[in-house]
Amino acid sequence: MTPLLPENHPDDRPRTTRLAPSPTGDLHLGNVRSLLLGWAIARARDWRIVLRHEDLDQERSDEGGCEAIESSLSWLGITWDGPALRQSDDLEPYRTAMIRLAEQRRIFASDLSRREIREAAGAPHEKGPVVFPASLRPKDPSAFLFNDQEGNYRLVVEPGAERVRDELQGDREFDPSAEVGDMIVWTRNGRPSYQLAVVVDDDRQDVTDVVRGDDLFSSAARQQRLRRDLGMKGSPRWWHLPMVYDQEGRRLSKRDGDAGILALRDAGVSAERVIGLIAAWAGLIPERCELPASAVPGLTDGSAMRRLVDRESLTPCRFTKEDDRWLRNM
Ligand code: GLU
Repeated sequence: MTPLLPENHPDDRPRTTRLAPSPTGDLHLGNVRSLLLGWAIARARDWRIVLRHEDLDQERSDEGGCEAIESSLSWLGITWDGPALRQSDDLEPYRTAMIRLAEQRRIFASDLSRREIREAAGAPHEKGPVVFPASLRPKDPSAFLFNDQEGNYRLVVEPGAERVRDELQGDREFDPSAEVGDMIVWTRNGRPSYQLAVVVDDDRQDVTDVVRGDDLFSSAARQQRLRRDLGMKGSPRWWHLPMVYDQEGRRLSKRDGDAGILALRDAGVSAERVIGLIAAWAGLIPERCELPASAVPGLTDGSAMRRLVDRESLTPCRFTKEDDRWLRNM
């Protein structure tokens, strides 16, 4: 596959990737797989790796969650360069971005609830994400200022396809206006949304390469739009990895407490078993064995990563009961 580079990509910058966990509970094996592979891809290529705690969601973030994540990563042998950034430590960069968006008249205040938006769109009982239609944008120009930091603000999202060029999965197009419409960029608890924070941080941390789960593939399109609205050049290179599923075919999530990394550690599972299981899932080694993280970068060349994506597009990766027994050496 030819490497896919977005036009005007600031290609000459030193390469940097980020580990961007959210401290909303114990990391599960799916999170760890994305973090480990992102880390290994970067270490194999001598990129810088920054750690960013995405802790802006006050309701879901755990007290002590950032420390727990650092301790889990260190236990696994996943390292980073320089001090970690915690998003909640300083909201000023996000406010500055909001002011810039307001100057371009790209944001507006709107306190409509999900139910009101659905009703206005004539679909009050619909399930799934709420799409905010252009027809609900306020008419009053004063709504397009950023003067109340305790209110909800949305971004004006124009219709049209946005192409995402992915290093692993090729090109895909998304239309953010059809998927989410005018998306939330600032919330009434006085904090930026995930989409705004990630764009500001990837820019200020000089991130050139984003490696993460493909549940965020469509977010890449939203983030490209937001970058342009903020006058940022180009886009990071995207590397979206397939997700991990449980035995029943549901995506692993934090509700699967027993796939949590701290829970496994407390149960006496070794870090080398966790790494060896993930490497075997990814097809980097022929079968499960104990493996230190330091052995993984040497296994992540481009063809290995593409094989992983090709294989898992046919047969998604599953954490089976058998894997669980092997981990626990039972
Ligand atoms: N914090 C997000 C998560 O843990 C990842 C965000 C990103 O990689 O852009 O799912």
